[in-house]
Amino acid sequence: MIRLYCQTDLRSDAEVALPSDISHYLAHVMRQGVGDEVQLFNGRDGEWVADITAITKKAVALRPRQQTRPQPSLTPLHLYQAVIKRPRLETIAEKATELGVSDLHLVQTDYTQNAKMKLDRLKRITIEAAEQTGRLDLPRVHGVQRLSALALEHDLVVFCDEAGGTDIIEALQTWCSSGRSPGTKAESANLALVIGPEGGFSPTERAQLRALPQTLAVSLGPRILRADTAAIAALSIIQATLGDWPQS
Ligand code: SAH
Repeated sequence: MIRLYCQTDLRSDAEVALPSDISHYLAHVMRQGVGDEVQLFNGRDGEWVADITAITKKAVALRPRQQTRPQPSLTPLHLYQAVIKRPRLETIAEKATELGVSDLHLVQTDYTQNAKMKLDRLKRITIEAAEQTGRLDLPRVHGVQRLSALALEHDLVVFCDEAGGTDIIEALQTWCSSGRSPGTKAESANLALVIGPEGGFSPTERAQLRALPQTLAVSLGPRILRADTAAIAALSIIQATLGDWPQS
């Protein structure tokens, strides 16, 4: 069934009118008609099955019929990504959404070349990735901030340092078993991941990040990875060790 993000509140008595671009997609690209079912989510009200009730030139109207999944509580997993060239940054926005990031922060670092970004386009990419991946929430996309201005108030900041650090899996497992994670389940911890630009971090930045008490400076192995690969690899390892991959 087609899954769509919408901004409207979802209740069984409230009709939803989709914006014109999404209406066009549904009626003319996907050739859906009155009576067809669509799944809707808005990041607040869980997932609903809705029936298409009307199609006009301008809009498709739907009536939510039944909630199929409740809204899950969000697990904080923040990705601080140095701004890199657009295609790779867009890949990161898509993959980070698939991998469960709650917040994507764009960061200007000493070696960032051009920190101008079109936030709307990145947000659109996260919406499409959430629709595709079955997520019921959207990652928040935060505008560009300087690394030195970030508070980084998290239980754990995983800093991927291309100049070397502890092996990431070993570091996360040790952190988990050391009792430093709050609560009984590590997955409720507020986690952050920091990935640098193609030019890497400056010595000052590396020192700043390493000086934070909650930082784990980690290595992703013997090869230098491109920023997009590094983000995807590190997020996968975080989800597999501390996050929502282990289902039991
Ligand atoms: N130009 C730099 C590499 C930057 S790679 C150099 O040659 O040293 C972009 C980012 O990906 C890095 O800042 C780091 O955050 C991450 N990264 C890539 N490979 C890594 C590795 N083997 N270990 C830890 N982090 C890595």
